[in-house]
Amino acid sequence: LWDQCVRQLKGELTSAEFNTWILPLQARVDGRELRLLAPNRFVLEWAQKHYAKRLLDLCAQYSDGTVGQVRFDVGGFDREDGEEAQMGGFDEGISIADLQERRAAANLNVDFTFDTFVEGKSNQLARAASMQIAQNPGTAYNPLFIYGGVGLGKTHLMHAVGNIILASNPSARVIYLHSERFVAEMIKALQHNRIEEFKKRYRSVNALLIDDVQFFAGKERSQEEFFHTFNALFESRQQIVLSSDRFPKEVVGLEERLRSRFGWGLTVSIDPPDLETSVAILHCKASQLGIELPEDVAFFVGRRIRSNIRELEGALRRLVANAQFTGKPITLDFAKHALRDVLAAQDKQVTIENIQKTVAEYFKLRTSDLLSAKRSRSLARPRQIAMALAKELTKHSLPEIGNAFGGRDHTTVLHATRKVKSLRESDAGVEEDYKNLLRILTS
Ligand code: ADP
Ligand code: MG
Repeated sequence: LWDQCVRQLKGELTSAEFNTWILPLQARVDGRELRLLAPNRFVLEWAQKHYAKRLLDLCAQYSDGTVGQVRFDVGGFDREDGEEAQMGGFDEGISIADLQERRAAANLNVDFTFDTFVEGKSNQLARAASMQIAQNPGTAYNPLFIYGGVGLGKTHLMHAVGNIILASNPSARVIYLHSERFVAEMIKALQHNRIEEFKKRYRSVNALLIDDVQFFAGKERSQEEFFHTFNALFESRQQIVLSSDRFPKEVVGLEERLRSRFGWGLTVSIDPPDLETSVAILHCKASQLGIELPEDVAFFVGRRIRSNIRELEGALRRLVANAQFTGKPITLDFAKHALRDVLAAQDKQVTIENIQKTVAEYFKLRTSDLLSAKRSRSLARPRQIAMALAKELTKHSLPEIGNAFGGRDHTTVLHATRKVKSLRESDAGVEEDYKNLLRILTS
């Protein structure tokens, strides 16, 4: 019976899912019951949650209805014939509470898994590579570097990797961290004389997942520290996974030795989804929200919102909320109406020229002055604001923005974005100007 179930599931699941969750199970039929033993709580929880129902159907089918129950436990049947297997008391040394704690300590989001990640042409390679290293951490590719635009699934994939590593080996030490948090924690450690502890913490993990490494730009002390962490992990063959909004060599403000190391393993990109993938993602998210999305609505939304999956999700949530609120069914007309603002904003392409023109008008300057080499204060501030807006609202890189502002260096743009960020926090006037400009440009 179990062999039949296994054969069937092998066809239904991806090989990664099958190998991770089904293969480790041991099975025995006990009267009307199929008893399954999982090697640890992780596999048990997961398999029970995702496959119990399907298994029950299969059992009923293959046993002609004689087996009507599936029971999961932790343990193994490797005892002598007739002897009761040691149920539950299997000494894995880890309880559910422990595991939850480990996930929390690793900063892993349990909702970001491979199961909830819809595969498409745009993310196929990144997904496959992530799956490979999740199953062979430290030995497949090191580091894995995932790059791509905002909201395309980099963070989701990193968590999925961490979740699998932890699930297949609950005693693995896994840490997911945004690069800005790495920086913040390092500074805190320095302040409290705990830098040795900090070093030890990150250099002793089995898998280190650092998100958005472009935020290391310009932070030399952090880069230095991360360089040594990287080397320690690399040499001891522990897995490193990195993400960024661009290719390793193009991450500006990063030391050359880091940039080159980031490219040592496998570098994969995630691209904006094609229409079919967008539609599939919408259906997947809709079913998670417990609703069914009509095909024409899914295509309509997918066609109009193409560049960013986070926005796709936002649009869907808005649709669902609106439908619940008004009690109306989600039809094409309903969707067009409910999403009109979102779509209008999408349609309005913000360009660098557009930003320069708007900022010049707002501050009553000439656009040419904004692009000139003049450095008077009355020009410098608006120029910095315009650069920061260009960074925020367009997909152009720092060098491209610098170029568009009279051939300035990318470090000038970087400095401008930082300056504006800190001014917005300390100077209410700047904050108001910036907000006004954002509104003008995006409404
Ligand atoms: P990034 O880190 O690249 O900016 P995220 O990983 O945060 O993007 O993804 C943004 C949102 O889109 C998340 O809610 C994520 O779950 C979802 N998402 C991205 N790619 C996919 C995918 N292929 N299938 C399902 N959801 C996805
Ligand atoms: Mg991210």
